[in-house]
Parts: sequence; structure tokens; C-alpha cells
Amino acid sequence: MTPVASALRDRIAANGPLRLDEWMAACNAHYYATRDPLGADFTTAPEISQMFGELVGGWIGDLWLRAGAPPLRLIELGPGRGTLMADALRVLARLPDFGERVELALVETSPVLRAAQAGRLQGAAWFDSLDHVPDDRAIIVVANEFFDALPIRRRDSAGEVAVGAGFAETRLAGDGPVVDRFAGEWSPATQAIAAEIGARLRTRGGAALVIDYGGAGPHADTLQALRAGVPVDPFADPGEVDLTAHVDFTALARAAAVPAFGPVAQGVWLARLGIEARAARLRAAATLTERAAIDAALVRLTGTMGTLFKAAALTAADWPQPAGF
Ligand code: SAH
Repeated sequence: MTPVASALRDRIAANGPLRLDEWMAACNAHYYATRDPLGADFTTAPEISQMFGELVGGWIGDLWLRAGAPPLRLIELGPGRGTLMADALRVLARLPDFGERVELALVETSPVLRAAQAGRLQGAAWFDSLDHVPDDRAIIVVANEFFDALPIRRRDSAGEVAVGAGFAETRLAGDGPVVDRFAGEWSPATQAIAAEIGARLRTRGGAALVIDYGGAGPHADTLQALRAGVPVDPFADPGEVDLTAHVDFTALARAAAVPAFGPVAQGVWLARLGIEARAARLRAAATLTERAAIDAALVRLTGTMGTLFKAAALTAADWPQPAGF
């Protein structure tokens, strides 16, 4: 048994079943703190192709310019290896004054991934959570595959889901059958971060771009565990597999309480931002092998992944409408 598993076993033995969100928080904290999972257990859009981060960079730059190029803090939540931001900044660095007016803040809890980000992103500042990021200017927040890693709670007709002795799925005692109460998943952690983003957008201005799998919610039962790209039991081997749940974009927008756009399918959003033109440009300067890779990436980002993943945005009420929605 791993140290995480025995700690969880002892916690359950002492206090009774662990609520699903507590389980997920403990497992994912250990999982991300101890490895770089990208490419091993799962891969993400920015790791598939530079086109993804470049288009996100174009989206940010377009919005920032149309908002009058104010002093800005560009915040990324859960930047992984820093690939998306490195690709975005290559595009943004061409804008006059961007370097002087924009500061970069990265919200990352994993020391392993912070080290990877530091190797690619110079001049960034790191924070453990969004509320530790200084609140003194407009913000543009980017979050790709961040919210799906945050803990969820779930209720069904038998009660609220928890993990009991032997890591067996159970229901919390005292939480009887659901008659007219909410049944499905909800994420207090996601709602708290969305509320924090919304509060800052209302007082300082700015926007947020959220890309993740999920859709208009609520979702009934989407918790999943991945190891090496293969679905496994979410209650076996705690802290050693990636736990995710679909993002409820409706609840996220409601918690932010600012103008919201989308969700639209990632493939549609990328097409509207001009991914075909970007691919053609890259192809023109590429070798034959590179061309095949560009074509394959285009298909992955706009095909299967392009349907499963959604893009959504939040803005301050007096900011311009974001591109692609
Ligand atoms: N955005 C990246 C990585 C996605 S993986 C990409 O698209 O490739 C999820 C990221 O969120 C990792 O960087 C992980 O360490 C971070 N993360 C997970 N839970 C977090 C939390 N509670 N607070 C801050 N970062 C978190």
C-alpha cells in the first residue's frame, strides 16, 4: 500500500466515509505534486500542437487591443508544462507595449510542474491559488483542462457519494433518498474560483477563457480515472491515477455572475479563430514529415477532441465581445 493509500485508509477508519470531493482533492493533490502526467497518463491540446497556444495568444491579443491595451495581469490556472503560454506569448510579444503593460501570473500547486513552467516562461510569478494573485488591475485568465481536475460532489437517489472502508463507493449516512433535492454533480471548488474571477472582472475589468471537457450542466455521473490513457477504477490506487469530471459550464457562469459566452465546441471555436489558415501557413514552411504531423494535429484538435471539449468565456460588462463565440 502506498503512503497516500494508508493515510486515506486511516482517515476513513477514524472518521467514517470520505466525501467524494475530499477523496478527489487528496488524490489529485498527490498525483499532480509527484509527476508530470502529460504524455504519460493523458495529453492536452497545447501538447498536441503549437497552433492551439498560438490561437489562444491571438484571442488574448485581439481582446486586449480592442479593450484599449490597459495594464493587465495575464493569469493562467494550471499551466501544465507551460506550453500553451509559451506559444501564446510568442504571438503576443509582437504587439507594441505588450511586454511593458502585461505581467504574467501562474497559479500552480505542483512543484514538479512549476519547475517545468519556469524553464519556459521567464518573468512569471507563481501562486498557490487565485486569491493570492494581486488584485490591482484588469485580468485575462486562461484555463485549459484545469477545472476538470477540481473536486466534485455528487448526489444520486441513494444519497451523497462517499468512499468507505476498503475504498468502496458508499453513500453518506443520514443523507437519505433524494426526493426533490438536486441530484447530479457539483463542484464547490470550481464555483469558488469562478466567483473570484467574476468579482475581479466586475471591479477591475478583463475576461476569462475556459477550455475543458463538459458542457452545459449539470452532469449526472462523469467522474473518471485515467492511467496511461486507459479508464480505470477511480477508487483504486489513490493518488496514482488522474481523476477528472466534466465541467458544468452553466454553473461556472452562474457563479461568476458576469457576461458569459459559449460553451461552443472547441473545434468550432478554433475554426472561427482561423486554425485552417494557421495550419496552411505552417504547412507551407514544413518538410513532408512535418506536414503530416500538422495535418494529424489539425484533425485531433478539431475532430474528436474538438467535439468533446468546449470553449467558453467570461468578460467584464464593459469589455468588448471576445472572438469565436
Ligand atoms: N493546462 C495544462 C495542464 C492541464 S493538467 C495543459 O493544457 O496542458 C492540470 C493542471 O492544473 C496541472 O498543471 C496541475 O498541476 C494543475 N492543478 C490541478 N489542481 C490544481 C489546484 N487545485 N490548484 C492549482 N493548480 C492545480
